[in-house]
Amino acid sequence: MSKIYDVIVLGAGPAGLAAGLYAGRSRLSVLIIEKGQDGGQIAITDEIENYPGQVEGDSGPSLIARMTEQAKHFGAERVSDLIKSVELEGDVKKLVGAKGEYLGKTVIVATGAFPKPIGCENEGKFVGKGISFCATCDAAFFEDFEVFVVGGGDSAVEEAMYLTKFARKVTIIHRRDQLRAAKSIQEKAFKNPKIEFMWDTVVERVEGEEMLEAMIVKNVKTGETKRIEADEEDGIFGLFGFIGYNPNSSLFEGILDMEYGYIKTDDNMHTNIEGVYAAGDIRVKSLRQVVTAAADGAIAAMQAEHYLANKE
Ligand code: NAP
Repeated sequence: MSKIYDVIVLGAGPAGLAAGLYAGRSRLSVLIIEKGQDGGQIAITDEIENYPGQVEGDSGPSLIARMTEQAKHFGAERVSDLIKSVELEGDVKKLVGAKGEYLGKTVIVATGAFPKPIGCENEGKFVGKGISFCATCDAAFFEDFEVFVVGGGDSAVEEAMYLTKFARKVTIIHRRDQLRAAKSIQEKAFKNPKIEFMWDTVVERVEGEEMLEAMIVKNVKTGETKRIEADEEDGIFGLFGFIGYNPNSSLFEGILDMEYGYIKTDDNMHTNIEGVYAAGDIRVKSLRQVVTAAADGAIAAMQAEHYLANKE
């Protein structure tokens, strides 16, 4: 029979690795299952300057490598597998993957969420080189530069307002002539002198040598295209995409309570099923950052520990 772990952690981003570390330190048997590379979104982030204590100029992958090593040091076992189905009710939970079945007394779901790409030509080449999906992470790099934001929902408009604290000018590019964002948020944006709007417009292509220097936008009503170039003095501009996220939660549809595809928890990371916790970007929460993901993972692991101790 398969080993029954005290804790199974699904996902090896900051939330999952912090959960593995805390569970391991509590002398629980813990298995971390990850389908790809460790780190989730920060595995593709060049520079992280807002994680407390992070060494200046140090990269996302090196931060993640240290988190992985730390979890391993405290006894977290690892397996690389893609989980295809789950049975979460009852005292022993079962996760069925492509390579095998895994049993745990508790499960911490830390599968993350990924920003939807803008969907323009050459996008991949400029992610981290002018294109960003995180204003909190990258706004400071665009101090006094011009910045464009794609999207018209709450995130796009709120993040555009945040970006005005850094950028010289922020233009919201929206595919319709009306914002989707809540009226109260819209009103603030319309009053902000640094924000301009480019209506009925989509980004078709981005261009540049190393960094983003130009883009082709298209008016969807007239079909007219226009080339936007960085100011000569600047040489570059920023392009932020906020057209929604894709949470990695399809595995839990109809099983865990969700809101817009994100798993609902209480402040202690409890889901609607006893012994099942969610941590990090997969949760309904207000700030999706490495520091909040790691904190969630720590809380979830300690809650799993309390749950197991009370069962004995
Ligand atoms: P969202 O509400 O789904 O808005 C996405 C925006 O991106 C929409 O304006 C949409 O245009 C546009 N869009 C979608 N696909 C596109 C594409 N392929 N090309 C160009 N534009 C595209 O996403 P969100 O702003 O991330 O918000 C997600 C949820 O979180 C929402 O329910 C929101 O209310 C909530 N939220 C709340 C707050 C808050 O209350 N303060 C803050 C952030 C998020 P269309 O309008 O034309 O569809």
